[in-house]
Amino acid sequence: MKSQDIRSQFLTFFKNKQHDIVPSAPMVLKDDPTLMFVNSGMAPFKEYFLGNAQPKNNRITDSQKCLRVSGKHNDLEEVGYDTYHHTLFEMLGNWSFGDYFKNEAIAWAWELLTEVYGIDKNILYVTVFEGSKEDKLPMDQEAYDLWKSFISEDRILMGNKKDNFWEMGDQGPCGPCSEIHVDIRSAEEKAKVDGKTLVNMDHPQVVEIWNLVFMQYNRKANGSLEVLPQKHIDTGMGFERLCMVLQGVQSNYDTDVFTPIIREIETIANKPYGENEDVDVAIRVISDHVRAVAFSIADGQLPSNTGAGYVIRRILRRAIRYSFTFLDQKEPFIYRLVDVLSKKMGEAFPELKSQKQLIENVIKEEEQSFLRTLDQGLVLLNRIVEESNSDTISGQKAFELYDTFGFPIDLTALILREKGLQLDEAGFQSEMKKQKDRSRAASEMSTEDWIILKEDTVQEFVGYDLLETNVKITRYRKV
Ligand code: ATP
Ligand code: MG
Ligand code: MG
Ligand code: MG
Repeated sequence: MKSQDIRSQFLTFFKNKQHDIVPSAPMVLKDDPTLMFVNSGMAPFKEYFLGNAQPKNNRITDSQKCLRVSGKHNDLEEVGYDTYHHTLFEMLGNWSFGDYFKNEAIAWAWELLTEVYGIDKNILYVTVFEGSKEDKLPMDQEAYDLWKSFISEDRILMGNKKDNFWEMGDQGPCGPCSEIHVDIRSAEEKAKVDGKTLVNMDHPQVVEIWNLVFMQYNRKANGSLEVLPQKHIDTGMGFERLCMVLQGVQSNYDTDVFTPIIREIETIANKPYGENEDVDVAIRVISDHVRAVAFSIADGQLPSNTGAGYVIRRILRRAIRYSFTFLDQKEPFIYRLVDVLSKKMGEAFPELKSQKQLIENVIKEEEQSFLRTLDQGLVLLNRIVEESNSDTISGQKAFELYDTFGFPIDLTALILREKGLQLDEAGFQSEMKKQKDRSRAASEMSTEDWIILKEDTVQEFVGYDLLETNVKITRYRKV
């Protein structure tokens, strides 16, 4: 089944259950001081959950563009190294605002997965909230009993507060959730496991695909919970992961969401995918990052030196670094992938088609300028090497290259290694720490999905901050 059909079947299924299909909201948030990018399907609907606005229909379904590169959800460093975390991904969702609740949410999820998509129920697992002493909450018996009518009890696993209780922040609507996991291990892999152990949920081929959140409580300012008069459903399913399962492959990158981009990279760089691990990581990084950057530009967020623009610039530079180092691309080429991306995704996301020219131009210019930086950095690094009379290059010099010229440290380390030299990593880390301490402003930063400002709080901009990954986060202080 093609990815396009998988997406439309999801939407049609819920449309037939009286949901309105709505387009994805823009991924870049312009006026929200608490969140830079939409990082889950629920974010655009937060005013409905808070009761500040009323939807036209209290049942909605959509496929939302999400970006998880900062704050509470930051998957950036995973990307390329595993097969199912992306920076940009689509989250398929169905929503009930004070309408249906657990009964329908669970029954429909099951119907869609096993009857419409035809997933074998013997590869599915579900999780249920085990309860929390701290919050004086019992286990989610209601969800357990509903699941029991569909799936054998040894496939229902208990989950703790961290995984199975969703909260938007320290206040507001919250509730238990049930996750659906798919076991795509090969028969061979399964045979390795002792027959009694059904499954190790941490296995890389046992993948979470869908999270059903049952919002039934409200967390008050004093930390206590009250039952919500109006209960809500919020679900999110990773589209690319669903495609992996339905297309019978072991990696999101082997689905038709990614293969056209990967084929194009292979052709341009003249390097095959699947033969060398470094090359493979680079190809996965580039095929992922080009999507994140292209969608952001289409949404109006260009790479820049501040805020969200800086995050986008860092993502693109990460891709350029990998292509420079592992695919030997010394000339701009990532912009050339935009064509195939917009052909592939342009139907579902027309902004990719209409903004194609702009996206290509912006990416190409960024590539040119960062490749120049890399070139200059190489010259400087060579000079440092020539002038040094030791075979260890000082951490301070490497830090200067990194800090002043934007020359990435992993590249410095790699080049030195190739020359048979060493880098004083501890010295570099200590310079890095000094800089972090300087920039770790006293202000607090929210790591939640969002924060609810108390009525008497106003926000004052207090500057940017540099995190480990060098992603700038805008900080605000409540005054
Ligand atoms: P994981 O545990 O795999 O990191 P999660 O629990 O953080 O996922 P949720 O916040 O529950 O994810 O989001 C709902 C669904 O979105 C997940 O079940 C998964 O299918 C998908 N998803 C989450 N993060 C990513 C990502 N970085 N790339 C692709 N899909 C994702
Ligand atoms: Mg996660
Ligand atoms: Mg999870
Ligand atoms: Mg989850």
